[in-house]
Amino acid sequence: MTATVIDGKAFAAKVRGQVATHVARIKADHGITPGLAVVLVGEDPASQVYVRSKGKLTVEVGMNSYEHKLDAETSQADLLALIAQLNADPDVHGILVQLPLPKHLNEDLVINAIDPAKDVDGFHISNVGLLGTGQKSMVPCTPLGCLMMLRTHHGSLSGMEAVVIGRSNIVGKPMAQLLLGDSCTVTVAHSRTRDLADIVRRADIVVAAVGRPQMVSGDWIKPGATVIDVGINRIDKPDGGTRLVGDVDYDSCAQVAGAITPVPGGVGPMTIACLLANTLTACCRSAGLDEPQGLTV
Ligand code: NDP
Repeated sequence: MTATVIDGKAFAAKVRGQVATHVARIKADHGITPGLAVVLVGEDPASQVYVRSKGKLTVEVGMNSYEHKLDAETSQADLLALIAQLNADPDVHGILVQLPLPKHLNEDLVINAIDPAKDVDGFHISNVGLLGTGQKSMVPCTPLGCLMMLRTHHGSLSGMEAVVIGRSNIVGKPMAQLLLGDSCTVTVAHSRTRDLADIVRRADIVVAAVGRPQMVSGDWIKPGATVIDVGINRIDKPDGGTRLVGDVDYDSCAQVAGAITPVPGGVGPMTIACLLANTLTACCRSAGLDEPQGLTV
């Protein structure tokens, strides 16, 4: 079998198109422009690239983008003061603090200082609780993107066996909650899991969010299963230079799976598209407008 490739890049472009259409409509009908504030502390090169690309795509869908670049020595008090200011600003509907933060800053405290209604990353403890209890929340962008692709590919996920490899707060745990919400039978595996390959072999859906290059091999995959590869790892090429690979060994898995996301061009582009979708959702909720269909759970 050769797997169907789930094209995250094309999917993300479609989601951004839906967001742009909705933004144009609420601008025209209500005079409201959704606004996303991104806060970057320090000069981490990867974070700078992410923030630039988020800002560019925010403007492309017709939203306002507010970038706040603070130096690496910024104190916790100053960062919290900025967040308080953004919480109070009616033009800002979404706030994202780029992680990781420099070591002297307390990430939990900073994230929990964001107004939960503007927490477009879905990391605030209130949103975590709401998601865990099946209530309306802001849903973390990466798992939301994975769920959108799975729903579109399969229609209903009800009754399917899902194995999520990884239990981080930003990917693994919310992914498991979302799959449970869609009535999958969910197993969450992690570094202490015994017989991981055997557990993965029973899955109709495998979501790999581990951070280990090409760890999941084709002989772990049940024929016909859907494989969602969240991993982004840079490895050396034999002839020099580097390339990006996922947590899944793409070539061997694609021979067995029914469908698979590539790296790059799979989950990655969906994460930013879902950030824009969450900002739009936050804006609609704050203004008491109808939420866009199909862009949140
Ligand atoms: P974390 O490091 O926070 O979590 C990794 C998880 O994998 C942990 O739960 C860990 O287990 C588990 N794990 C580690 N080694 C093994 C192993 N040998 N077998 C089974 N489980 C293992 O990573 P994140 O969740 O933040 O990210 C995961 C990957 O996804 C990374 O490659 C990251 O770059 C990528 N990513 C991609 C995004 C995108 O937009 N595409 C967004 C976010 C992340 P334990 O808890 O026991 O330590």
